Amino acid sequence: MTLDTQARQPIDRSTCSALDAADPLAHFRERFVLPDGVVYLDGNSLGALPRATASHVARVVTEEWGQGLIRSWNDAGWFEKPLVLGDRIAPLIGGAPGEVTLGDSTSASLFQAVVAAARLRPGRRAIVAERGNFPTDLYVLESVQELLGGGTPLERRLIADDGPTLAEVLDEEVAVVVLTHVDYRTGRMHDLAEVTRQVHEAGAIVVWDLCHSVGAVPVELNAAGADFAVGCTYKYLNGGPGSPSFIWAAARHQAEARPALTGWHGHARPFAFELGYAPAEGIGRFRVGTPQLLALAGLEASLDLWAEVDLEALREKSLRLTELFISLVDARLGAWDVEVVTPRQSARRGSQVSLRIGAADGYAVMQALIDGGVIGDFRAPDLVRFGFAPLYVSHADVCDAVDALEDVLTSERWRESRFARRGLVT
Ligand SMILES: *Cc1c(COP(=O)(O)O)cnc(C)c1O
Repeated sequence: MTLDTQARQPIDRSTCSALDAADPLAHFRERFVLPDGVVYLDGNSLGALPRATASHVARVVTEEWGQGLIRSWNDAGWFEKPLVLGDRIAPLIGGAPGEVTLGDSTSASLFQAVVAAARLRPGRRAIVAERGNFPTDLYVLESVQELLGGGTPLERRLIADDGPTLAEVLDEEVAVVVLTHVDYRTGRMHDLAEVTRQVHEAGAIVVWDLCHSVGAVPVELNAAGADFAVGCTYKYLNGGPGSPSFIWAAARHQAEARPALTGWHGHARPFAFELGYAPAEGIGRFRVGTPQLLALAGLEASLDLWAEVDLEALREKSLRLTELFISLVDARLGAWDVEVVTPRQSARRGSQVSLRIGAADGYAVMQALIDGGVIGDFRAPDLVRFGFAPLYVSHADVCDAVDALEDVLTSERWRESRFARRGLVT
């Protein structure tokens, strides 16, 4: 890759365009609605809208709901929809048919999965999690600790990238280890197979949170012999705001698994309306209540597109984009004490790059970037985060984003008072 990376020279547009011209995934970009004048680097928070989604959702609303009415539970396959779409998510995470169902929010699905996991290791009194995890995962675990503790909450042991390590906290007391595969703040990626092996060696169960992995990096749950996983579908999968989360349970655990929430859609015979709960065979027992069919319609349209994606090519492009971004940041932004927080080693990196900017207020810098049409986000206390969704982010976008960042820093536009104002959502 030859890049003009001389500081203060405009980035060589033809190099970026040449990389796009040689990109085997470039054709996917036109399958998305992307507003003019916007460089969208926040698909790790909310994926872009596929062009096919609006008409598909409209058809579900007008035909399946409007005309089909209650008949659509059978005629349009509504009842089975979470399992049918689950089977289409399975290949994206190295799962098999019958191992995935769609749930509610990731928080609820995590609760569902962790309780089932912990119940497979009765008598063990500790749960391992990560200090840097997305806080909702830790909040959910607090409740699991209390509910399953039988009066005394289960012990929580937290690992972190700067220690303690997993090896230091694992012993025969640990029931479950809950880890996020790709860290939402730093983009650091765990070695899923190696960590799973380590957890199993201690006799514990692993629950993977794949929110920043699915649709971003190849995941091989079965090859790793993993136990449970959850993830969201509105980030890299582009299912739309509020599209449901998924739960994956290895086939070998399903018959024994006792999820937390025992609702009627997870019952063996939901329409027998029996008085007692009897779990459905297989992954269906992880279902709870009536599925969010309109939200699932958005996901369904997006999964049509994912069926065409070669995940190895996706990973190659993701690494090309993040490497290009890092090399341009290194070459051009040194004057502002910019630190690349995301691992430089590609095997340890997801599909995002996070920066810490020593010489400026990161929050204000991101607001100024967004004002200029380059949309990333900010994660407290000081990380400026850029997500690279390989299906619709181009190499030219990367070059434009670094140009814009350099311009915001050079002009000191970020100092304008309006960029210091915080919204409800950052
Ligand atoms: C985005 C994200 C979530 C989101 O949880 P919801 O309940 O779907 O809002 C959870 N965990 C991680 C690691 C995430 O990145």
